[in-house]
Amino acid sequence: MRRFFLIGVLVAFGAAGIMARQPAGGPPQVAEILKVKDNLYVVKGGGGNTAAFITRAGVVLVDTKLANWGERIMQQVRTVTDKPVTTIINTHTHGDHTGSNEYFPASVEVVAHVNTKANMEKMPAFAGEKAQFLPDRTYTDRLTLGSGDERIELRHFGPGHTNGDTIVVFPALRVAHTGDLFAGLGTPLIDTKNGGTGVAYPETLKKAAAGISGVDTVIPGHADVMPWSRFVEFGQFNAAFLAAVQQAIKDGKTAEEAFAGLKLPEQFKDYQIGRGQANVSAIYAELKK
Ligand SMILES: [Zn+2]
Repeated sequence: MRRFFLIGVLVAFGAAGIMARQPAGGPPQVAEILKVKDNLYVVKGGGGNTAAFITRAGVVLVDTKLANWGERIMQQVRTVTDKPVTTIINTHTHGDHTGSNEYFPASVEVVAHVNTKANMEKMPAFAGEKAQFLPDRTYTDRLTLGSGDERIELRHFGPGHTNGDTIVVFPALRVAHTGDLFAGLGTPLIDTKNGGTGVAYPETLKKAAAGISGVDTVIPGHADVMPWSRFVEFGQFNAAFLAAVQQAIKDGKTAEEAFAGLKLPEQFKDYQIGRGQANVSAIYAELKK
């Protein structure tokens, strides 16, 4: 018999957890570089996790944090290599992942999913002259960059956090950067204005888990590096969340009642559920259409 816990009871703890990690004054203002494996590093701080993949030709960055973090990213990267940045991959449109694109020379190739480019084109941060920092190259399902032990695979499995989420796989190192499709262990942000969907999210995660093989380590969008098995588990969490909401709809509950009475398997009791009510409401709105 599977054990369940009542999700509403944990709201208070979830909120306390978030506050504990972000003391007064907000998140840290200093970037920090950590080695993930061999020639792959993660730069923490200032928004989303930036990956730095050092190739023979130069540095490939995955995501560029908030605006005005370019110099702090490069101060950290220069502690491990003198090579210039040649490529930026933006995992999705959000300003805490694309904000410092403008710091880098226009000659740097920016790559993203085709829907992410369309979403970025709507942002004031990429209007007018700043349109030069939009993606130069786009793809729809899959794109390969580089070759041999420097091969990088960009994969898109469908809508979730947004409609243009990329998972960046470094096959030789068995590492993937998921962007905010998997930001960390908790209820994800569902950005419906940029094509995100709570209904399709679990299916997208399931396809990703099935479609990506040979990876043992994940760089989440925001959380610390962890085993790839946590990404697979995160997919199961979202499937359980959606199933519980669908049941609440069947039972005739309001979105508020649904969240208050939501039961999820015991294995997910450590998940942050700060966005739980918002996600229940998003799923209700989607299913009413
Ligand atoms: Zn995001």
